[in-house]
Amino acid sequence: MTSETTSSTEALPRVAPQQGMPEQVRIYEVGPRDGLQAEAVRVPTPVKAEFVRRLVEAGLTTIEVTSFVSPRWIPQLDDAHEVLTAVGPLDGIRLPVLVPNDRGLERALAAGAREIAVFASATESFAESNLARDMKGVLAMFEPVVSRARSAGLPVRGYVSMCFGDPWEGDVEPREVASVARRLLDMGCTSLSLGDTIGTGTPGHVLELLDTVRGAGIPLDRTALHFHDTYGQALANVHAALTAGVTEFDSSAGGIGGCPYARSATGNLATEDLVWMLRGLGIHTGVDLNALAATSRWMAQHLGRPSPSRVVTALA
Ligand code: MG
Repeated sequence: MTSETTSSTEALPRVAPQQGMPEQVRIYEVGPRDGLQAEAVRVPTPVKAEFVRRLVEAGLTTIEVTSFVSPRWIPQLDDAHEVLTAVGPLDGIRLPVLVPNDRGLERALAAGAREIAVFASATESFAESNLARDMKGVLAMFEPVVSRARSAGLPVRGYVSMCFGDPWEGDVEPREVASVARRLLDMGCTSLSLGDTIGTGTPGHVLELLDTVRGAGIPLDRTALHFHDTYGQALANVHAALTAGVTEFDSSAGGIGGCPYARSATGNLATEDLVWMLRGLGIHTGVDLNALAATSRWMAQHLGRPSPSRVVTALA
């Protein structure tokens, strides 16, 4: 792994640790899956594999590699088997994959997946638009998938989307989020990721949601947060969540991708922007910021557009 120490000539934030913050944060890198699935350009398979390898070299240890969704839904990821077998397994590196249904789990296991994620929603409208089922139907569809994956010894992450706002329903009640999260844990999910899919959350809202979630008996040490920077709130939201004890955050190298189903969702939180703030707070991530930014610039060339990450742009 690369070290976090860099030469003094490189721009890096001053380290000023704050009381009440964790010493370490796990970054759950979603660029190869959540990022590339929402990009218009179809990236060649060897470039995707190289992307994952470069992310590992930059110090990321948890990377969601791809999705075993039907290629009819997301043609950008129709090479899931090839990408996963090209990069994994890797010692000490978690390479989870998204699995939408039983057929997807079958394909993921055949490709050697050792960890999966399933994708539910806190709102009816998004479940219907994104997964063509009502919420009950979505959870019923996942139950056998989760149970089979757990029997095979695989950890299962349960994503909950639309936790802060929904383009059709507007405001989302924190207790609705807690209820879906509870059901995912009850069916066997080993961890959760609560997503601000349209990016409307603000720091006070984050604290309210986390309070409700914790009140529903959901441990925050098994709960990650997935912020979008659509309205420029992602890092402020991370900071609020850190003060509440959350230690895992999703982000996308270079800020690539968004959500193909939610019209207003632009911009995953960029991993570089997240690492910059965490580093300034003296919170360990294991990520070499300059190596990561170089990787994002390289990927931006393949995508044919500049990285939307402020840090990637500033370090160039
Ligand atoms: Mg996202």
